[in-house]
Amino acid sequence: MAYAYDDQNIFAKILRGEIPNDTVLETEHTLAFRDIAPKAPDHVLVIPKGTYVTLDHFCAEASDAEIVDFNRAVAQVCKMIGAEPGHGGEGFRAISNAGENGVQEVPHFHMHILAGRPLGPMLLMR
Ligand code: AMP
Repeated sequence: MAYAYDDQNIFAKILRGEIPNDTVLETEHTLAFRDIAPKAPDHVLVIPKGTYVTLDHFCAEASDAEIVDFNRAVAQVCKMIGAEPGHGGEGFRAISNAGENGVQEVPHFHMHILAGRPLGPMLLMR
């Protein structure tokens, strides 16, 4: 089944400049901005400019240029917020929620980059 992209989602509106955002980084194919309801001292969302719904959609259908640009932007954001474990930073967590079980609220693929405090166990089994 094809991925259905809803162009009225909030990140589509941010990309069209219809609502403001706190931009951290913008590249040819990628935008990174601060989450409006941060769950850690640093909470940045990295999104492709292309119309991808989920991580698997992006990985399956984005161009090589988009995929490289996105991943380089993730690295750049980690550097900008001082979270790179190999370079003196204290680390971060990258999360991408997808679909119903992933409890994805905004149906435009995004990677959460969380940093600035110990983030605790990844998930609790229940
Ligand atoms: P998810 O549950 O993975 O889809 O996460 C969506 C995230 O988008 C949440 O952490 C929200 O706080 C965040 N969010 C929603 N609206 C905005 C906005 N206008 N600007 C920045 N972040 C937003």
